[in-house]
Amino acid sequence: MKVLVAIKRVIDANVKARVRQDGSGVETTNVKMAMNPFCEIAVEEAVRLKEAGKATETVVVSAGAQQTQETIRTALAIGADRGIHVPHDGALEPLAVAKMLKAVAEREQPGLVLLGKQAIDDDCNQTGQMLAALLGWPQATFASKIEIDGDSATVTREVDGGLEKIAVKMPCVITVDLRLNEPRYASLPNIMKAKKKPIDQIALADLGVDPAPRLKVLKVAEPPARGGGIKVETAAELVDKLKNAAGVI
Ligand code: AMP
Repeated sequence: MKVLVAIKRVIDANVKARVRQDGSGVETTNVKMAMNPFCEIAVEEAVRLKEAGKATETVVVSAGAQQTQETIRTALAIGADRGIHVPHDGALEPLAVAKMLKAVAEREQPGLVLLGKQAIDDDCNQTGQMLAALLGWPQATFASKIEIDGDSATVTREVDGGLEKIAVKMPCVITVDLRLNEPRYASLPNIMKAKKKPIDQIALADLGVDPAPRLKVLKVAEPPARGGGIKVETAAELVDKLKNAAGVI
């Protein structure tokens, strides 16, 4: 079984995002970028599936600017076998990404497509669901455990009420949550090995995808600054503040 992993290059999770002065979006010039943390978990899971003998090949795919190849190299250093880069400057909306991934899945014929549950830049949480719908494949979102048995995957999902276990037939789409695994650090020998692994380039147009945005961003603004907290002496005072000052109970 081949595993296809979709990864996105985003602003490093440790960097504080700044809004552009003209309010048109978030500043990305000269800002440290990295692989979306949920995508790193997806890559780690694919590599573990290969190490466990459940997967035969792991392929990572990412759409983005030229530097996206560095992010693909990071995935190859974690242990993925090869990469596919779909060049595109500027933002791509989840629907365009899902269409791109559908076309790549049709070429690659994976048994499993892994994605992050969401990208931490736009927090959309849409691409995996859209991809499953476009492919007509079963989906399991927010996975915290994946067990593959033959042509079926049993997935433990993190839902509001706790954990839910579902079985899906493969090929399927799974989006991964934070507690699925802890991604390894790439070792120096693996970073060196990754330099020799192949990265193919495929144009969006060759995949039949129109990148034109369908959404219009009106304005991006910083959230209002938080006011300071207060200390209360007693539980009764706390209840009083919650009721009368905060108005939340
Ligand atoms: P989103 O729906 O934007 O929150 O993204 C969810 C997931 O879709 C990410 O964690 C990635 O696995 C995948 N994804 C989003 N954008 C891209 C991209 N440009 N290239 C490849 N995969 C992507």
